[in-house]
Amino acid sequence: MADLLIRGARVLQLRDEKASVLPDHDIVIRGNRIDRIAPTGAIDASHARQVVAAAGQLAMPGFINCHAHAPMALWRGLGEDVNLESWFNDYIWQFEANLEPEDVFWGMQIGLLEMIEAGITAVSDHYWHMDYAARAVEKAGTRALLGQAMFSGGGSAQIDETAAFAKRWDGQANGRIRTILAPHAPYTCDDEFLRASARKAEAIGAGIHIHVAETLEQTQASLQRRGQTPIAVLEACGIFDVPTILAHAVGATPGDLETLADLRQPTGIAHCPKTYAKLAMGYSNVVECRALGIAVGLGTDGAVSNNTLDLWEAMRLTALGQKQLTGDAENLTIAQALTIAGADSARVYGQGAELGDLSPGKLADIILVDLSGAHHLPLNSVSASLVYNVRAGDVQTVICDGQIIMQNREHRRLDKDEIMENIRPRMERLRRRDRVPKIQTYNP
Ligand SMILES: [Zn+2]
Repeated sequence: MADLLIRGARVLQLRDEKASVLPDHDIVIRGNRIDRIAPTGAIDASHARQVVAAAGQLAMPGFINCHAHAPMALWRGLGEDVNLESWFNDYIWQFEANLEPEDVFWGMQIGLLEMIEAGITAVSDHYWHMDYAARAVEKAGTRALLGQAMFSGGGSAQIDETAAFAKRWDGQANGRIRTILAPHAPYTCDDEFLRASARKAEAIGAGIHIHVAETLEQTQASLQRRGQTPIAVLEACGIFDVPTILAHAVGATPGDLETLADLRQPTGIAHCPKTYAKLAMGYSNVVECRALGIAVGLGTDGAVSNNTLDLWEAMRLTALGQKQLTGDAENLTIAQALTIAGADSARVYGQGAELGDLSPGKLADIILVDLSGAHHLPLNSVSASLVYNVRAGDVQTVICDGQIIMQNREHRRLDKDEIMENIRPRMERLRRRDRVPKIQTYNP
């Protein structure tokens, strides 16, 4: 018997970087996995415990956000039109000096609320007080890969503390929550701290999620100070002995890309193009990375640099940005953009075998998208519409781990009013930038 049956949907299929759409198909879900996909009528729906009518809607895998700091949504709109150095020193690391653990519980929920509404079912999140973030994920019903951030200035005891967090939460919430270690970046963590983080990750069987080479300026500063690029620093410190998510790598040199292409452990880049554009961080050559076999997935980063947690935007900016960067409109095709959002993001997230594609045996993380809005009409190409036309508000229904968490845009698990009632009284404190010292100083 089916636990959930999605009836009469168009089903997006991506095979070998070719996109196709199956018309009028049913998707059978048993437990938390996809059991069968078949033409409507071939499956007897009368035995299904729950049926979701999806005629005319498009079923596709839930988006996977490979790099975010979702609780930073608390400061959305408060660090505008500034360069990266000012963004860190005058805003973020001053705001975060006033952050309290419970803020993360509510901040994470506002981020999750927005991500669910945009069809994001999994997030790799790197932030502070992560027990509170984990509780929010448990409540929201989504999937997350959580890492507690660390700077080496905070002392080496943090490595054991964050490893304890990782052990506490890994596999919780029916396996929806996984954990990772999260040293912040090579410019905030010294070599000894990075080495100790890598050894600890290996010892507990975890991966590492780290910011690296966010700009070319950081690469140049690292060459001057350490005689190595930031990516070479990570390699020398043993970070690549475990599966690694590299946030950004915008300042990667050709030699760095060769290093990444040759690694034995799975390593992927989280590409966050809206943040790069907004903070003038430079351009990342995704076309070249992919040609070298380096996995590139999509990320939003936090909402103070991106303003939205919306991977439709990230997918669109990736396609547009790569055409513009390479001067070749045949680069980064629609099917490639959808593959980056699906299977490639799943690979970077570390669950390439289970997520990022709708086929029997995969985990049932599925979104239903309405394509009847005027901005899609006449609907001549579903796949073109997905990359270039969809708005987050077109996402109607979100299923994660076989459970409906939003249906017809009504949340089943999170309560926006409750979240905002709890966030409002915190905002006066959180908006203050008067604390000395700030938590860290940006100096690439
Ligand atoms: Zn980040």
